Amino acid sequence: MPTSAIVCTNCGRGYPPKGFPYQCTKCGGLFDFSAPLKFDASRFEPSEPGIWRYRHTFGLPPDTEPVSLGEGNTPLVRVKAFEREIYFKCEYQNPTGSFKDRGSSLIAAWLKLRGMAEAVEDSSGNAGASFAAYATRAGIETRIFIPASASGPKRKQIEAYGAELVPVSGSRSDVAESVRRVAGGRVAYASHAWLPFNLPGYATAAYEIFEQLGERMPRAVIVPAGQGGLLLGLTRGFSSMRVAITTTTNVPKMVGVQARLCAPLWALSIAGREGLGFVAENETLAEGVRVRNPLRGGAVLEAVARSGGFFATVDEEEILPGRDALGRLGFYVEPTSAIVWSALCQTIHELPDPVVVILTGSGLKYG
Ligand SMILES: [Zn+2]
Repeated sequence: MPTSAIVCTNCGRGYPPKGFPYQCTKCGGLFDFSAPLKFDASRFEPSEPGIWRYRHTFGLPPDTEPVSLGEGNTPLVRVKAFEREIYFKCEYQNPTGSFKDRGSSLIAAWLKLRGMAEAVEDSSGNAGASFAAYATRAGIETRIFIPASASGPKRKQIEAYGAELVPVSGSRSDVAESVRRVAGGRVAYASHAWLPFNLPGYATAAYEIFEQLGERMPRAVIVPAGQGGLLLGLTRGFSSMRVAITTTTNVPKMVGVQARLCAPLWALSIAGREGLGFVAENETLAEGVRVRNPLRGGAVLEAVARSGGFFATVDEEEILPGRDALGRLGFYVEPTSAIVWSALCQTIHELPDPVVVILTGSGLKYG
């Protein structure tokens, strides 16, 4: 059974064959895949929609119906900068305007496979909009819980997909608590942070980068990190590809980028557990990576360390100039996504070619 490969990372219990729990029903632990992803170029299926070309890596039964809006296959654009050639992976060109679509496609497919008719999510950002779109494709009723103060284009986008918005007064954790109270039974909590199903989706961006570089592994990848799911998925993708092509090239150095005002992964990576003492959850323009306690923090830290990479932080006053610098190259991204520019400026001189920078979210949604 494909689901036997998903286990609780705390007690080892397998993901149950029925239902859709977001955490281990025995100990409250986090689920993850028990074995590395397996990429096999001979099983590539070009006629499948979007990222489903790589469906053999997803861990889903072979007859699972794809839930797709044509996600993936985003451009990799080569730019001359810093007297080098830098590659930008335009994930903001996904169907709902962010990389999250690669994960939502798989979460929605799992929900459908498990016969779930209703799902809840607690994001007013890219994850909420992306999930609303894919859930609607899968015929699943969706309620998105958001802070009452949230407004703007993302809220409109979520409603346009037919999802019900449930405003909750209080903090972000009050919103998360409200969602957890209604989850259970026939109502699935489709959390991008808790569930592991989205990670093989993010890995497909790694397969594409390899192909777009002319069957070459990048040597360094710069990516924003909040929960760190995208970073983790990419690393798993590159690792599985490395095994599949039996290359002696290592996986790329992963550079995780955080806003300095909320940078727990960076703090832990430089100071160990004592680093937690100086982690704050301040307001930042990069709200998409404002996560004080990343659920898979341990796995993300390990992935970065094993790749020979590191974490970088970006000061608040560097974020909007970074967005403008990217704009002048033809890339229109949101502030969270733009933190990679400052990280690139800080670290380019210590990174080997080819360097790939991930642009995660569209600027059209910001305002
Ligand atoms: Zn457990």
